[in-house]
Amino acid sequence: MKMYKCPHCSEKSISIIGKATMNIKYRSKCKVCRMYYGPPYRYSALLLLFICVIFTIVYILKIESWVKVGISIVLVAIYYAFNILVMPIVKK
Ligand SMILES: [Zn+2]
Repeated sequence: MKMYKCPHCSEKSISIIGKATMNIKYRSKCKVCRMYYGPPYRYSALLLLFICVIFTIVYILKIESWVKVGISIVLVAIYYAFNILVMPIVKK
């Protein structure tokens, strides 16, 4: 599995799941140097805001509930994919 570099020690200690689940509130800990890392605050806030806006719009719309659930799952997938593919890892 692909591993990502820790911003502190440059060891490839961050798993793809660790990177996908990064968020503003929670600081993750490097397994090698025990220092904290996470997503940059601004990017992460913007991504979260974007997801929240879409969620709100979807729930206001009068569409069938299974469609809403489907869109929610897609949004979560987008969040994880964005974290893995785009989000840089920074020191916390
Ligand atoms: Zn480290």
